[in-house]
Parts: sequence; structure tokens; C-alpha cells
Amino acid sequence: MDDFSLFDSGSEPVAPVFFSDETGKPFTNCKLCNKELVESNSVYTIEKAYVRNVEKNENKLIFEFVYCNDCMEELRGSISKESMQRITAYFQSNSNIIERYEKFSKSNLFDADSWINNCIINNSDISEIEEYQLYCSCKGGNMLLILLPI
Ligand SMILES: [Zn+2]
Repeated sequence: MDDFSLFDSGSEPVAPVFFSDETGKPFTNCKLCNKELVESNSVYTIEKAYVRNVEKNENKLIFEFVYCNDCMEELRGSISKESMQRITAYFQSNSNIIERYEKFSKSNLFDADSWINNCIINNSDISEIEEYQLYCSCKGGNMLLILLPI
């Protein structure tokens, strides 16, 4: 089980950018096990991937996914410990995720757009990136503002 004290830093209603592009509504069920997430006030993760036509200023959804914490744990379990350590190390040395979190938590700037406008790896502006993914952790109808959204 995750350390829930991490989740005390704040929460905001799920932003429209993390709604389902297919339905235009917030996600309500885990895509893997179909568990209800909002009414049950469950912790879950939203992942969306886009390609972007910079010239036309158009975004095209590649996939959208939502999974409950149980399915997330299972997915994590299927990744070897070694690759997980490599992924974590990569993020720690290449991204500004911790710094960004501290900056936003100090300024109380809990606005999804300002969290996701720049790539956490190289800080590129999202409007100049041709392919990107968004992640968000949620609990019930709220986003958890921890190290995500990214
Ligand atoms: Zn599930």
C-alpha cells in the first residue's frame, strides 16, 4: 500500500483535461477490472497519450487508460525490480519533478494546466512537443496533487 501521507498535499476536482476523450466525461471505472472508482472514493491513475501536429495545432489521442490501485500494483509487479530501479533513477537524475513539486506546493499553484504545460524531462513547452503523455493520480472525483499530474 502506498504512503497515504503523500496525499495530504492537496486535491482538486479532476480537470477536464483528464476526462475521457471518448465520452467527454470523467472516468468512472477501471479499464482492467471495471471496478467503480468515483463513488467508492478509490485511488486510481489516469494515463493519456497524444500525438501533436505542431503546424496545425492539433492533438490526436493515441490511447487513454485508467486503472485502480490494485491493477496498478499488479502492473508494477510485472515490471522487474531492476527495471523499476532504473526507471526511478532515470526520473531522479533527468527530471525536475521534485523541484517542480516543491515550487508548486510553495506557491499554492494547484492548477492542472500549469502542472502539465511543460515536459518534466526537458521542460519543453507542451505546444512544441509532437508526442506526449499525461498522467494523473486521483481519489474519487479529485486529482491528488502529489508528484503528478505530469
Ligand atoms: Zn482495476
